[in-house]
Amino acid sequence: MEYQPAHRRTDGQGPQLDTIVAAATPPGRGGVGIVRVSGSLAPRIARALFGTLPPARRALLARFDDALGQPIDTGLALYFPAPRSFTGEDVLELHGHGGPVVVGMLIERVLELGARRAAPGEFSQRAYLNDKLDLAQAEAIADLIDASSAAAAHAAVRSLQGEFSARVHELVEAVTLLRMHVEAAIDFPEEEIDFLADAALQARLREVQGLSAELLRAAGHGRLLTEGLNVVIAGAPNAGKSTLLNRLAGYDAAIVTEQPGTTRDVLRERIDLDGLPVQLLDTAGLRATQDAIEREGIRRATAAMRQADQVLLIIDAVADPTARARIELAGQLPADVPVTLVYNKIDLPWARELAQSPRLEVSAATGAGFDALREHLKRSAGFVADAPGTLTARARHVTALRQAQAHIEAAAARLVEQRAGELMAEELRAAQRVLGEITGEVSSDELLGRIFSSFCIGK
Ligand code: GDP
Repeated sequence: MEYQPAHRRTDGQGPQLDTIVAAATPPGRGGVGIVRVSGSLAPRIARALFGTLPPARRALLARFDDALGQPIDTGLALYFPAPRSFTGEDVLELHGHGGPVVVGMLIERVLELGARRAAPGEFSQRAYLNDKLDLAQAEAIADLIDASSAAAAHAAVRSLQGEFSARVHELVEAVTLLRMHVEAAIDFPEEEIDFLADAALQARLREVQGLSAELLRAAGHGRLLTEGLNVVIAGAPNAGKSTLLNRLAGYDAAIVTEQPGTTRDVLRERIDLDGLPVQLLDTAGLRATQDAIEREGIRRATAAMRQADQVLLIIDAVADPTARARIELAGQLPADVPVTLVYNKIDLPWARELAQSPRLEVSAATGAGFDALREHLKRSAGFVADAPGTLTARARHVTALRQAQAHIEAAAARLVEQRAGELMAEELRAAQRVLGEITGEVSSDELLGRIFSSFCIGK
């Protein structure tokens, strides 16, 4: 899908920013080290470093010299004249040998020639300012680099290519059309009621609702891929929380002892469930205690649970076969976070007397029941491994989409319950505003222009 970000600039000239430089390859040793320069000084820096400007987008073998004409390194130089570059500015890339000292010396030389060190993300920020990328695409670059699985990387590439932004735009378009329709009705107060009862308007509204729900679902799934699922392991002391964390993590991350109350801080561990990144938090055992440190641990555990996507409440199947812990800890468990009871220690013979209710039974000691536990985590998150067309998204996008959906639903209520066009248009405006935040555009002028050009009421 070809997607072009909307233009924030009309003069074709980027804002006049200073020239920035940074290493584009990670620190350390490697075959090649790349130094990237962006800004109007790039051509001058090229001439000063190796006496010529490379032909546009063609590699040139060159010797990079210091101020005294002594060689720093030899390598390839690439020049991307504005606007056909990543940032939209003149960009120079120096591909030298990949050693920290060589790369450092090249950067120092470029600094001497008038550039300054780039701030984190500044190249992408310039690409955004110069309309090379929108905000969601710029975020997708970071997600692609940080991807923890092939699925997350595939999803990030799709968002980077603008698939996510295009879908946001599709929704914005649909909201815009709906709003134009409503505003046209408002302009004819005597006919407003009929206008609003129009079947075409209802159909538009349903289309907007459908697109919004579908996009929210896709973004929610995308957010899982980028940011992962937050799972808190809670339960009474000695229920086997640390053992369970260790088994899920695949190594001894947490200390396991027979002495209750040993985990006092919140322990974090990232695992990968077939591409679903999961952040596991092992918390202090929840119980009434006089020990100040342990109480602080319990306070932290409770705070972590409130932020979780899911709480696994570990029950010692032998010591607590009726899951009294579920009742005793009810006050400390957050009301709006799903809690799954996980009965542990089912390897012990007397654990078999348990009541047969639907629940997860595991042995953190032997690993029995862990496939079901992993499946449960994926299923409860709504995660589908290798789902086709998955896009990356962030919590910010999901929040914006939820807000947009709330405004769309409010708009629908205004229409259905009150036939109030003005109020409905107001909600739709709010929906557009939050959607515009996703891609980083403000569309109010654009909207006005479109109302006049396509409707031409009264003309
Ligand atoms: P926590 O306090 O909830 O973190 O519990 P731990 O993970 O430290 O475990 C407490 C004790 O229970 C340790 O002695 C573990 O070896 C034991 N334990 C944990 N899980 C199991 C299990 O599935 N089966 C058996 N038999 N013992 C377990």
